[in-house]
Amino acid sequence: MQDDLYDVAIIGGGPAGSTAAALLARAGRRVIVLERERFPRFHIGESLLPSLSSIFERLGVRQKMDSMFMRKYGGEIAAACGTRDVRFYFKDGFRSRNDHAYQVSRAEFDQMLLENARVNGAEVREETAVVKLSLGKEQVTLETSSASQQTATVTARYLIDCSGRQTIVGNLLKLKRSYQNLQKFSIFAHYENVDRPEGIDGTLIRMIRGLNHWIWMIPLTPTKMSVGLVMDTAVFRAQKISPQEMLERSIDEQPLISERMLRSERVTSVQSAGDYSYRNTQLYGARFLLAGDAAAFIDPVFSSGVYFAMMSAEKAADTVEAILCHPGRARGLLRSYQRSVNRVMKMYLSFVNSWYSGREFMEVFMNPTDILQIAPAVNSLLAGDASGSFAVRWRMWLFYFFVRAQRYVPFSPRLTLEPPKRGQEAPKGSAVTA
Ligand SMILES: Cc1cc2nc3c(=O)[nH]c(=O)nc-3n(C[C@H](O)[C@H](O)[C@H](O)COP(=O)(O)OP(=O)(O)OC[C@H]3O[C@@H](n4cnc5c(N)ncnc54)[C@H](O)[C@@H]3O)c2cc1C
Repeated sequence: MQDDLYDVAIIGGGPAGSTAAALLARAGRRVIVLERERFPRFHIGESLLPSLSSIFERLGVRQKMDSMFMRKYGGEIAAACGTRDVRFYFKDGFRSRNDHAYQVSRAEFDQMLLENARVNGAEVREETAVVKLSLGKEQVTLETSSASQQTATVTARYLIDCSGRQTIVGNLLKLKRSYQNLQKFSIFAHYENVDRPEGIDGTLIRMIRGLNHWIWMIPLTPTKMSVGLVMDTAVFRAQKISPQEMLERSIDEQPLISERMLRSERVTSVQSAGDYSYRNTQLYGARFLLAGDAAAFIDPVFSSGVYFAMMSAEKAADTVEAILCHPGRARGLLRSYQRSVNRVMKMYLSFVNSWYSGREFMEVFMNPTDILQIAPAVNSLLAGDASGSFAVRWRMWLFYFFVRAQRYVPFSPRLTLEPPKRGQEAPKGSAVTA
């Protein structure tokens, strides 16, 4: 056996990479993480889901989460026309076990998790990009290039690709498929001094849904707010204006947002991201697994990205550990990994497709009903309940049925989703989900 052979090499030190690294290193495996950036570095993806709490517990970072980041107790979704809004609290979700999640500065969150991987015994090389990859039958070989232009070769028995939207293995093996109906463009920045309600309602993620766009407001600290816009890539291109102009125009024409931003000041540059929503057709090979965004990414609307990244990385780490202990069971373990990760991805895909299907999602969502506990089931999906229990699934089928039926028979009042004209106040209704 080679002396320099690692048990597991991991590409990428984001939430997926650092989760897998910490768990495998703690199990006594020789693990190396190759990360092309030096942390802390900016990253988008700031609003987390309550279901992450068991992974934070397992990683031993629960107390750090509480001391470093703001709690989030739920969310608020409002129609751009200003006529309806709905607040939901995680405590009210179907058989809810967690009443809060967190909203994080990703620079600090990712650095804390990467440091945790180091403390647990993983070797972490920052400013080290993987530039070439060879996937053999017995081992994987990675060529790296560091900031000082030095090259090196790393060999490992297994590879977990956690390279995020770079999807290194997916691109190499041509496994990546984009969702053409979800080709969106996003523009975002951080602001100080955006007004927000007192108490728990001041912690909620706020989403304003327009006809062909939506805007998020994510409180990151008691004074800092992340504000972002998501719209069809084609619609953005047709405007022929810069991302900054587009963001400013969208904020300005939406009173539900601009009224809270009268005293605010932008404290970061305006950034953008495009071409997301894809999946890889295969999530494993003889010597590799894909996790996090490197496996799939389905639109940021329900803040499921970091949850999906850490959940899949936890499963990937457990799968590799089981294979290293029982090599003869590798095939079945890898298949079961892919099946369980795809199941969660499909659940969010259905939800996201419903959100973008037209006005009907909002019309139904804005009128939550106690009937058959459909609203708490939707709430539990918003909290990241990926248990896939039948009790939640059949309620979600009913919800999707109502959204489809609403197109033909309006059970709920119609919404224009157009911002009211200046000086014209919209009649307001609000609801809290059960
Ligand atoms: C507009 C937008 C808004 C979002 N909002 C949310 C949100 O509110 N909540 C949420 O949960 N998610 C959100 N997401 C999704 C979230 O950003 C991702 O799902 C999450 O970061 C995935 O984690 P990861 O570890 O898989 O990948 P990443 O966090 O992207 O980490 C991958 C790492 O791999 C490294 N890397 C890449 N290539 C190489 C290489 N060749 N060599 C070495 N290292 C490499 C990168 O530097 C990076 O650090 C959003 C995404 C977008 C686009």
